[in-house]
Amino acid sequence: MREFGYVRAATVAEAIGLAAEGPVAYLAGGTNLVDLMREEVERPRRVVDISRLPLSAVEDLPDGGLRLGALARNAHVAADDRVRRRYPVLARALLRGASPQLRNRATVGGNLLQRTRCRYFYDLGAACNKRAPGTGCEAIGGFDRGHAILGASESCVAVHPSDMCVALAALDATVNLTGPEGDRSVPVSDLHLLPGDTPQVETVLRSGELVTSVDLPPWPPARGAYVKVRDRASYAFALVSVAVLVQVHEGTITLARIALGGVAPKPWRAYAAEELLTGAAADERTFGAAAEEAVVGARPLRHNGFKAELARRLIRRTLVKLS
Ligand code: SF4
Repeated sequence: MREFGYVRAATVAEAIGLAAEGPVAYLAGGTNLVDLMREEVERPRRVVDISRLPLSAVEDLPDGGLRLGALARNAHVAADDRVRRRYPVLARALLRGASPQLRNRATVGGNLLQRTRCRYFYDLGAACNKRAPGTGCEAIGGFDRGHAILGASESCVAVHPSDMCVALAALDATVNLTGPEGDRSVPVSDLHLLPGDTPQVETVLRSGELVTSVDLPPWPPARGAYVKVRDRASYAFALVSVAVLVQVHEGTITLARIALGGVAPKPWRAYAAEELLTGAAADERTFGAAAEEAVVGARPLRHNGFKAELARRLIRRTLVKLS
C-alpha cells in the first residue's frame, strides 16, 4: 500500500472543505476502498475519514417516505422495522449482499459507490480501461462469464456489483448529495453512468461531492420480491438478480417496477417491460412478454449467454409468484 495523508473530518462542511483543496477519497466503512488501496488499484494521496459524521440515522420523511443516512450500516438498514414493513424488497436485497461481517461495516453511501468486481480491474498486470484508460479491456475475449449483457461498450463490459442499488432503483429512490458547489438530489437510476468511451467515470458525482442520504418515496401497497441467482448460497455476487414490485387490482396490473442486477454496468431498470405490464391482464402471457421485453438489446459475450435466459425466467417466475 502506498503512503497517503489521512484526516478525520468532524463535520460535513469540514469534509467538503478538505475535498475542495484537492482530490481526496472519502473513507466510510472501508469495505471496498481499503481493498482497492491495498491492491494499489486506487492510490489516493489524501483520505478523508467521514465515518464519524452524523449521517447514520434512518428517519421518517413528512411525505410518508424514509430517509437512509449515507453512513447507516447495511445490517442496520436491513433490520430497521420500517424498512422491513414498508420496503421489504430493500431489506431482502441487503440481506443477500456480502456476508454478515461486511454488512455490519458497509454503509449505504459506500454500497452505492462500490466499484466493479471484474477480476481484470483488480489485476494490475491486465489491460483495463476502467483502471488505466486507453490500455484496453482484457475481459473482452477473456473470462467474461460474470460480465454485462446490457449497457456495455467496446471499452468496458463490467457489471455493477450491488444488490442494494437494484432494490433502490425499483423503489425510485433519490440520492442526496452535497459538495463544494452546494446540495443537489439525483434519482438513483441516474447516479451511475454507462461506460461508453470513458469507463473510468462511473457516476455523475462531481469532484468532492459526498452522498449524505438516500430518500425512499412513500410506496403504495405493492407486493415485492428480490431474487438473486449466484454461484453459491452466500457471499457471492449476482449472476442475475431481479427486484420486482407489482400491484394487481381485479386481475389488471396497476403498477409494475422491474430492476435487474448482475447484467449491466448499473442497476438496470426495465422500463419497457414495466410499460407493457401496466394496464395489462395479470396472466402468464403478459408476464412472458414482459420478461422478453426486459432483455431486448442484450449482447451476450462468449461465456455469459445464459444470463439473458436466466433473467427472463427470473422475471417471469417472480411475476407469477407475486400476482
Ligand atoms: Fe476493466 Fe471494464 Fe474491461 Fe473489466 S470489463 S477489464 S473493468 S475495462
